[in-house]
Amino acid sequence: MKLERVKETALTLNCTFKENEILAPYTRLGIGGKSLFYIKPSKWSSVKNLFRTLIEENIPFKVMGKGTNILISDRDLNFGVVHLENFEKSVIFSGTRVEVSADTALNILAYKCLSNNFSGLEEISLIPGTVGGGVFMNAGAFGKTIFDLIEKVTILNKFGEEKIFVRNELEIGYRRTNIKDLGIVKSVTMVLQKEDKKRIKEKTEKYKKIRDLTQPWKERTCGSVFKNPEGVAAGKILEELGYKGKRKGSVKFSEKHSNFLVAEKGAKFDDAFSLIEEARQKAREKGFDLDYEMEVWQDESN
Ligand SMILES: Cc1cc2nc3c(=O)[nH]c(=O)nc-3n(C[C@H](O)[C@H](O)[C@H](O)COP(=O)(O)OP(=O)(O)OC[C@H]3O[C@@H](n4cnc5c(N)ncnc54)[C@H](O)[C@@H]3O)c2cc1C
Repeated sequence: MKLERVKETALTLNCTFKENEILAPYTRLGIGGKSLFYIKPSKWSSVKNLFRTLIEENIPFKVMGKGTNILISDRDLNFGVVHLENFEKSVIFSGTRVEVSADTALNILAYKCLSNNFSGLEEISLIPGTVGGGVFMNAGAFGKTIFDLIEKVTILNKFGEEKIFVRNELEIGYRRTNIKDLGIVKSVTMVLQKEDKKRIKEKTEKYKKIRDLTQPWKERTCGSVFKNPEGVAAGKILEELGYKGKRKGSVKFSEKHSNFLVAEKGAKFDDAFSLIEEARQKAREKGFDLDYEMEVWQDESN
């Protein structure tokens, strides 16, 4: 009955609604079981109403962007998913500022910036997620983080109310923010610099070449499994512990980058999770506390 009301609301708002939807195809690792429901909104104004209904009915749910930073259990899950990826893709330039909706893929934003001669995203344009997913965890690469560009963030709280936060009103750290406590990212305003197209392309190409050489970034992976502890690369710790290329079933730590998990055809959650937990335990025995950079989603009742 409760879910019936959510379905009715979703369909009235022109959202896609599916019950018991398998999540694997929505993730880069290609692992993930059935969620209670799956909703893909058609516009941000419907997200507000959806959230209100989900909260009123007390139905557990999570939001997903491009699914490039999550390992999801392949058992049945006791929560639903709202898929905030590429539906509105609003990118509005004004002077040297750009206001972008959170569902927009970072590479789409980077392409539009290039087309408009704006520099700023070159280091992070190959992070394969959405703007929302990137802002949520302060994604970064090559010494640049997404928050280096951000002036303000519009956050939608769980009651569907919007609030604008300027950068210094948020807690921002290394691959973390306090956004989870506030709601979800609806849009952000970034400040960019005017630059010659040729120069932007050269910079982007330079970072792409480094990724080609050092990361299996075209494979089924979720990027770095663990954050780097202070002063040392997690990949180095894993390599020294013998995890480079180490596999369990159809999942392995990459030979190219020891901190990247790679899933092959038929990969199972249990293999992935036990492999990374085993590596974390071994690191702990050597005095390194490795925190997850990616997220693990599983049904607590399993
Ligand atoms: C090949 C590869 C390379 C990568 N390289 C990097 C890298 O260089 N640097 C880096 O930082 N990361 C990297 N990543 C990890 C990943 O791409 C980033 O963390 C990305 O920002 C995740 O975005 P997403 O849309 O895929 O989020 P998802 O994986 O879908 O979700 C991740 C988290 O973000 C939350 N979320 C998603 N959208 C929103 C929203 N609108 N509001 C609030 N929360 C939201 C989800 O609830 C979840 O908790 C890489 C991943 C891959 C596969």
